[in-house]
Amino acid sequence: MTPGRPVPPPLAKPLPGTPPLPGTPPLRDASQTAPPALPRLAAAYGAKASDSGLVPLTVARRAPKDDDVEIAIEFCGLCHSDVHATRGEWGSQKYPLVPGHEIVGRVSRVGAAVDDFAPGDLVGVGCLVDSCRECESCLDGLEQYCENGMTGTYGAPDARNGDAITQGGYATSVVVDRRYVLRVPENLDPAAVAPLLCAGITTYSPLRHFDVEPGDVVGVVGLGGLGHMAVKLAKAMGAEVVVFTTSASKVAAARELGADGVVLSRDEAAMAAAGRSIDVIIDTVAAPHDLNPYFRTLRRDGALFQLGLPSGVMPPVNPGALIRRRIAYAGSLIGGIAETQEMLDFCAEHNVVSDVEVVGADQLNEAYDRMVAGDVKYRFVLDTSTLGTPSEKADA
Ligand code: NAP
Ligand code: ZN
Ligand code: ZN
Repeated sequence: MTPGRPVPPPLAKPLPGTPPLPGTPPLRDASQTAPPALPRLAAAYGAKASDSGLVPLTVARRAPKDDDVEIAIEFCGLCHSDVHATRGEWGSQKYPLVPGHEIVGRVSRVGAAVDDFAPGDLVGVGCLVDSCRECESCLDGLEQYCENGMTGTYGAPDARNGDAITQGGYATSVVVDRRYVLRVPENLDPAAVAPLLCAGITTYSPLRHFDVEPGDVVGVVGLGGLGHMAVKLAKAMGAEVVVFTTSASKVAAARELGADGVVLSRDEAAMAAAGRSIDVIIDTVAAPHDLNPYFRTLRRDGALFQLGLPSGVMPPVNPGALIRRRIAYAGSLIGGIAETQEMLDFCAEHNVVSDVEVVGADQLNEAYDRMVAGDVKYRFVLDTSTLGTPSEKADA
């Protein structure tokens, strides 16, 4: 265990105009690049207001520009952040809003300068679709911490596209700059890969930052979409894993996922018994909760990474709990593009995917309610073939 790790290399720069190697087949035929490329309408589901629920919408996708990749979306995971955002729990929001940032699909068209993706490729898009590409964080491959503000996959003004508000992956297609498109390994089930694009990378990144390795004990708080990925990834890194859950019904399920220990977090005696036993905690709870009992479970030099972003205020942290064992209380936001690709390749190598329940468009509202009630094992994924066809006029 070595807190901190080398900064990943910068996002690979394109090599425009690089001639193809002799014998390399053309990446696209003339019909796929026939100018002028036209924008397309996509069928989608999204919110019209904070209290509208999710309703059918039509979104206009831009015609692929030179560096763009157009993706025919097959699956999109449902993240608790989608619930927070569409219901306005994170403050004012522009509507209509199509959520979704766990996108998997196949490339349908590429721009003239794209030579690293071709139609038919299985690809993914996570939580960010652009960043300034110039600041220290971007140059360090940490675009999620872009000092000029990353462009989120939905609900964000898109500076390179006239400040149009981005619309996410509960849709039949999306157009994204190639620098923010991930390669999805073909050996994994695409529906079960989708949640890796947010839940997977969000938990992988702090585990890697803490340099988790065999011999470490990882605590996972909250067994939902992020939490179950944290269990699987920490196990694949060779760690011992202890799950902290509020749900007695998840004890057996946590063990089935690979947890070595399970603690019911509302049981004070069980929490006390777990004192000073954990090296790093990945806290994924989507609601305000008291962290002090968790700090007491950490060993000296332990760390608690808070990943959940509840709308309400968290109870105060007791400084003594941190000071007495040099404990770090940290946050972590998704992951950069290079690290997300690294995570996908790690998952392909270790055969790690999400446990998913695939739903159709007409089940989205029920799925949100079930997610809020903690009734999901462990990620809902939308099958976009159920979205129907776009109407003639775009809503967004
Ligand atoms: P989720 O699937 O709904 O899981 C959250 C889990 O938290 C629940 O299953 C539940 O587990 C636990 N929990 C305990 N008390 C709760 C309560 N009162 N209300 C809700 N959950 C409670 O959510 P998720 O998609 O994993 O997302 C978790 C949080 O991370 C959200 O706030 C989301 O916005 C945030 N997030 C952050 C990042 C980032 O970059 N930092 C990225 C994605 C998501 P038990 O039943 O086991 O107690
Ligand atoms: Zn998410
Ligand atoms: Zn930047």
